[in-house]
Amino acid sequence: MKLATSSPTRIERLRIVLCGAVQGVGFRPTVYRLADKLRLAGWVKNSGAGLEIEVEGDSEQLDHFLGKLKTERPPAAVVTTEVVSRIAPAGCACFEILPSGENVPRTAAVLPDLATCPECLRDLLDPADRRFGYAFTNCTLCGPRYTILLDIPYDRPNTTMQSFASCPACRREYESPHDRRFHAQPNACPTCGPAVWSEPEQAKGANAIARAAEALARGQIVALKGVGGFQLLVDARNPAAVMQLRARKYREEKPFALLMPSIEILRRYCTASGAEEELLACQAAPIVLLRPKQECDLTPEVAQSSPYLGVMLPYSPLHHLLMAQYPFPLVATSGNRADEPIAIENDEARERLKDIADVFILHNRPIARSCDDSVARLSVGRPQILRRARGYAPLPVVVPRELAPVLAVGGHLKNTVAIALGRQVFLSQHIGDLDAVESRQAFERAIDDLLRLYRFEPKFVACDLHPDYASTQWALDSGLPLVQVQHHHAHVAACAAENGIETNYLGVAWDGTGFGLDGTIWGGEFFLASHDRFERIAHLRQFRLPGGEAAIRDCSRSAAGLLWEARSADRWANFVSTDILAMLESGMNAPLCSSVGRLFDAVASLTGIADRNRFEGQAAMCLESAIGDIRTDETYEIASQNGIGDWAPLLDQLLVDRQRGLATGRIAAKFHNALANWIVAVAQTTDVRDVVLSGGVFQNAYLTEHATAVLEERGFRVVTHHQVPPNDGGISLGQAVLAGQLES
Ligand SMILES: [Zn+2]
Ligand SMILES: [Zn+2]
Ligand SMILES: [Zn+2]
Repeated sequence: MKLATSSPTRIERLRIVLCGAVQGVGFRPTVYRLADKLRLAGWVKNSGAGLEIEVEGDSEQLDHFLGKLKTERPPAAVVTTEVVSRIAPAGCACFEILPSGENVPRTAAVLPDLATCPECLRDLLDPADRRFGYAFTNCTLCGPRYTILLDIPYDRPNTTMQSFASCPACRREYESPHDRRFHAQPNACPTCGPAVWSEPEQAKGANAIARAAEALARGQIVALKGVGGFQLLVDARNPAAVMQLRARKYREEKPFALLMPSIEILRRYCTASGAEEELLACQAAPIVLLRPKQECDLTPEVAQSSPYLGVMLPYSPLHHLLMAQYPFPLVATSGNRADEPIAIENDEARERLKDIADVFILHNRPIARSCDDSVARLSVGRPQILRRARGYAPLPVVVPRELAPVLAVGGHLKNTVAIALGRQVFLSQHIGDLDAVESRQAFERAIDDLLRLYRFEPKFVACDLHPDYASTQWALDSGLPLVQVQHHHAHVAACAAENGIETNYLGVAWDGTGFGLDGTIWGGEFFLASHDRFERIAHLRQFRLPGGEAAIRDCSRSAAGLLWEARSADRWANFVSTDILAMLESGMNAPLCSSVGRLFDAVASLTGIADRNRFEGQAAMCLESAIGDIRTDETYEIASQNGIGDWAPLLDQLLVDRQRGLATGRIAAKFHNALANWIVAVAQTTDVRDVVLSGGVFQNAYLTEHATAVLEERGFRVVTHHQVPPNDGGISLGQAVLAGQLES
């Protein structure tokens, strides 16, 4: 902002408070250099509120300073609010960086971990540099943050680097405002910093990394202590090695993510657009879902039957060093067994991974909290986060209004937890499905962690309506006043809030299953959101899921439910065994659902595209992928009447197409288009302009893009998720927003 002009020679003093992700990004040295250049006096410091600056001098220079503070911001900084006030001059002569303040509100955003910057990569690979081959090279613009943070504010004594005393050379860098490593909290070098070694064969530094490369070449499994936890690595071209990893990890079906040595090598294996390459190379360095190329030497065991490959680039010096010695695609999966949380401590990894890994690459920089690799894809031309952890957590989501202090404990699958602090909601990193005891412990640790870091005292706790969710159970046992939030309300509220929308919108919540207000399973819902309530104005025609939970894995059960409901007796013969028929007829163990996720399963099964969900959403993913490059407006019909979306005409038309041998890709496209058109039909019965799309179904890029296009053609404004996942990873945000508004 520009302050009112005054006499050019007048000395003034400004107080500036910047909130957001402003610590640990090189903001203080930037401010220092700026003030120094403009001959202004004063100080800058990190505080619990963010970054505080007091700056004094000629009023015109101060205006320059404010302008430059906006344009010359460090690239990783995210300023959410900026408050400038004029205070009395104090007559100081120089500008200094003060030690961090204490006893102030702890709302400063902590930065996520940042991938190695180009300059540090150069240092790392330059034989003349003192950090040549040093696995803990970083600077103010890159390196670990959240995963080494023990307390706020982000200063070295509050990180897991606290036990390493800097050598004189590192200290000089740290103290010089003109150095790239000025106040880089994890700054270190081979003389004074952490070290890497291998086990069981003991080797250090470059030799340890050489041991790992040799093991990979032999087809062995390497456990590597990464940024947010251990990863298991194996050569992705070696079928026996990949099968071995699957067998030892007890993870027989989910696709594995890949670590590619460079963007050039990645291009040999996957098709990536310019925007996808940008996402791969950004400082969050997520796993990006890409289409694999047909002709390549990757073993099919990597992705099993998934139509996409999850691929990432090296994001830490240790990864760069390993890839320099072994420049081939690697499977890089979380260091755990099945769905347990990722291991982070050396002893823990030695114990838990001993039957999985052949070689360990360890180091002595402790990891403060686990952070899995994040997963993202491109949707409607923008990055969409599917798993939010390393590189994104714990950046807050800024919501439209102040919220009461609420702790939101999320859903059951893909769990995250969140706290609301004013207009900011801080979400934990992805915790995962809460089935295993270890996962529930990780869930409790994440809650303790958020409460402790932000000295947060929740006034109440928000949870799902589902009585059996482990998160709901925890909330019930917590002793705090409870607010139960309907699952699909939470989905759309999360999406609306991250897009700055408060009320007066059509919320479309489509997912697999969620506990509905009427006790049935919801998942194909439309809500009209007004300032004080959600009105369920439409939903998918219900059908039964024979076997309940079993139908989530076996798509033919959803198909049977659909055919039975449509009374298509002649058609279900192939699909329905006698025991399934008995369930459908009696309604026993065959709950009613209105789930679009399960409709996807049924259609995948009826078209022969997929019969099982080996991992969540697999059949829907195959159905989307079958469309390939087909672009058509042809559609089936979902009859939208009296608030019910009847799939019966769609089913008839689809089965006719199937019978006449229409290509499955075209059938898939017509099915997706029918769903998009149904949203338009419902939206046109309302008088709102904003349409909010949320729920796991909208991880589907074709559906999201097509729905957005047809809605926008008719003048609607469509918003989708970009900061938190559309799947249940975003539920905690929605719970925090809805519960936090009750008493704010
Ligand atoms: Zn750097
Ligand atoms: Zn040093
Ligand atoms: Zn959901």
